[in-house]
Order: sequence, then C-alpha cells, then structure tokens
Amino acid sequence: MESKLYYSLEYADDLNCLLSSAEDGAQIERTKTLFEEIRASVNNNDEQDRSFWRPVLPWGGVYTIRAGRKAISCTPLYVKISLKNTCTIDGFLMLLYVILRENHTFPREVALFLGKEFVEHFLHLMDSYDYTTVKLLWIWDRMSKRQYRSEIHRTALEIDLFGNEHENFTKNLENLMSTAQESLCTSWACPQLPGAPPGIISISPPHELPHRDLIQSAVDEFFCPRILLCKELGCDGLREFSHRVFCHGAPPFVILNMQLWKSEDLAYVPYHLALSQHRYLLEGATLFNREEHHYSAAFQIDGYWMHYDGLRSDNLILLSKPPELLLLSSLVYIRESDK
Ligand SMILES: [Zn+2]
Repeated sequence: MESKLYYSLEYADDLNCLLSSAEDGAQIERTKTLFEEIRASVNNNDEQDRSFWRPVLPWGGVYTIRAGRKAISCTPLYVKISLKNTCTIDGFLMLLYVILRENHTFPREVALFLGKEFVEHFLHLMDSYDYTTVKLLWIWDRMSKRQYRSEIHRTALEIDLFGNEHENFTKNLENLMSTAQESLCTSWACPQLPGAPPGIISISPPHELPHRDLIQSAVDEFFCPRILLCKELGCDGLREFSHRVFCHGAPPFVILNMQLWKSEDLAYVPYHLALSQHRYLLEGATLFNREEHHYSAAFQIDGYWMHYDGLRSDNLILLSKPPELLLLSSLVYIRESDK
C-alpha cells in the first residue's frame, strides 16, 4: 500500500500535468467572467430571490487524473482524488478571486509573490467553473505537505484539509504580507543582534479599552516604534524598535487574523484602516461556526454584502443582515487605489 501511495502522490504532484489535463476538457468560451456574472446578479436582485443562480466553489470535490503511460501494471489508469474539509481554503479562495477580479492592477502585483502562472491559472479556472482544479492548484502550488493529510483507499487518493484556515491559507501568503522592524540596543555592552525576523501582520486584542477604534489601535500598536527592556542575556540596556515596515511595500491586500479576539470587541469593525501610510478598505471576512467546525466567508461587491458557504446548496447569497452565530476568523482589507 505504501508504494502505491507514494506513486500516486508523486504522480499527482506534477502540477503541469494537472493543469494540462484541466485544459484538455473542452471549455465553453464565456463572454463574462464569473465575477461579472455575480456582479450582474447582485445588481439585478429582487427581494424574493437573494441567491446567486449557480453553485460557486462547492465544498469538497472529486478529481480524476489520468495515470497514463507512467502506470505500472498494478496501478489503475485513472486515479480519483477526493477532497475533504475544503472549507479551510474555500472562503479565502473565493475572497482572493473577488479581490483579483475587482482590482485590475492586483493580478500583476500578486503575481510577483504567487507567480504569474499561478494567478493566470487561478483566474482562468474560476472563470471556467472548474472548482476542484482550483483547489488542487492551491494545494499543490502553495501548501506545504504538512498542512494536509492524504490517504489512499484502494485506487482513490483522499486529501483532507481539516484544520485551521490560517494554517492552510494565510500562512502560505507570508511573502506578500511580511513586515519587519529593526532594533538597536542602547547599551554598548550588548551583543548587538539583528532585528526580529520578518513576520506577517499580527494584531492582539487590547488589554484595556482604548478611547478609539480597537482594530485601528491594535494595527497602530503593531506598526509603531517602541522601546523595550533588552532581552539579550546579561544585558540591562533598552532596545529601540524602529517603525515597522512592509518588506516588499504595501501589499494589495492584508488578512488580519481575528481568532483571538472576543466577539464583543468586534461589534464595530472599521470600513477603513490606515496601514503603513496607505488607506485600506474592508473587502471581506471569513467566519467560523464552532459547533460544525466550519468556515464560510462574506465579501462585498458594489456595496452589497454576500455570504459564501460551500456546504449550502444555494452557496452564494445576498445578505440583508450579518450572518448570525458565527465568529469572525479574519478580516480582509484591500489597498485603496492611488487614483
Ligand atoms: Zn541589549
């Protein structure tokens, strides 16, 4: 069994093969992108029907790969790949798609971090409603093997993405959102160590209530310069930390991990955020249902808020009020255009 598993993984890992077989299938030429279809449906909605007319990025997925000539006698010609618990990437893939389609300069910018090929394939597959391939693209192109479990049952490979969405998605965007801060100790005797290693944005819930917007305050605190007691062994100096900066310039979007925040602190979520001399706008959020250990996402198009939940049959609906009984898992902000 072990060798078969190895073989299947080895084979399936061939991303080019995955993509070329996806393109083999006759794709219908569409005049509108998926984003344009959703936007049209949002703008023409009526009170009776608040759902998008077809399922978008449904939970899970089954993909069949051709094992082709590489197959050895005991291995079947086709291998089925079943995806399980994909909600840990689905919501963010949906948000990423909306962000890239809504902002014309972002695909080029994001391509610098995720690769031009990845971005082009991603948009093409979403626009072709080829949702299982989109997920496999993310899994094989971006995720580390430690972030998903795979098992083989007879001739089918199963990939289980059960876990935390920040582990399965945000973590794989570290380059895009990395920030750094330099530090210098005031003591001449201090073993001068370089500043802390770069890290993605992480904001913490406040210890005491500030007078103004909690989230903006937490972001400011994360970026502002500070002086702390030096932590070097045997040093009693003070260490000055510079203003924190984005390692590669202000990113097109940022994801704030809100898992540690209490819902009462999140009663007010700001629509605008000042971040490293740029203005960011709230674009969406991912939400967590604790009972079902299930993630979903909300995002806006032309000022209308939509809720995406891959498990529902009408999985994209227009919201008239915020979805209930769900915890905020993340907030997603996009950089305001310079125009
Ligand atoms: Zn020191």
